[in-house]
This record gives sequence, structure tokens and C-alpha cells, in this order.
Amino acid sequence: MASDCLFCRIARKEIPSKVVHEDDHSIAFDDINPKAPVHVLIIPRKHVSTIDDVAPEDTQVLGHLVQVARTIARSRGIADSGYRLVFNCRADAGQEVFHIHLHLVGGRKMSWPPG
Ligand code: 5GP
Ligand code: ZN
Repeated sequence: MASDCLFCRIARKEIPSKVVHEDDHSIAFDDINPKAPVHVLIIPRKHVSTIDDVAPEDTQVLGHLVQVARTIARSRGIADSGYRLVFNCRADAGQEVFHIHLHLVGGRKMSWPPG
């Protein structure tokens, strides 16, 4: 937990968000500035700054985030059409919030490679 971290504060409900899923280990909410018709952020409740800071004992939660993403994709109706899961790590990837978050993006055709 980090008292001044935006996503820790969202997880603690100190800052409002559109929560789409929560459980003991994770919380998922709509991105405030969606890049596609579906854009959900799935985060661990535990504060970890970047994917590069994930400790060996925390790797299990990453699989959990993917399972949550799958469930949300299904409920939002994009499981069959497809979607993208993204972790941005540090400056070159454009990471803006330093609490790891899995982007679930879908509902439109996307290009590859990303910009
Ligand atoms: P990053 O660039 O760090 O991978 O992604 C950060 C994401 O968090 C961005 O897509 C941005 O729109 C989203 N975001 C930033 N601040 C807030 C906020 O206060 N609430 C919500 N719901 N999303 C936010
Ligand atoms: Zn945090």
C-alpha cells in the first residue's frame, strides 16, 4: 500500500471509479480516458510500481489479473471478437501511473505494431 499512489487510492475507494470487478487480490475499473469502446484497468491490491519490480512471490497475482481480464472480456462481449492485454513498463512504453495495471482494450479493430 502506498498512501499517495493514485491506484492504491482508487483501490481503497478514496477516489471514485467505475468498478467492474473486485476480489481479495485485485480490483478492475474503467479507464478514465478510454482508448477503445472497452478499456478496463485491472490492478493488484498490493502496490507494485512496475512490472520490472514484481517479486517472485508476487508472480501468481499476474496470472490472476489475466483471469479477471478474461472474465470481464466475456461479460463485455468482446471475448470472441478479440482484445488486447497490455502492461506498460516505464518511460519508453509510456507508463504514467506507477502501480502495475493490466489494460484490457477491445471493441474495435486494432493495429500492430503499437505506436
Ligand atoms: P499507463 O500509461 O500508466 O499504462 O496507463 C495509465 C492509465 O490510467 C491511462 O490509460 C489513464 O487514462 C488511466 N488513468 C489515469 N488516471 C486515472 C484515474 O484517475 N482514473 C481512472 N479510472 N483511470 C485513470
Ligand atoms: Zn499503488
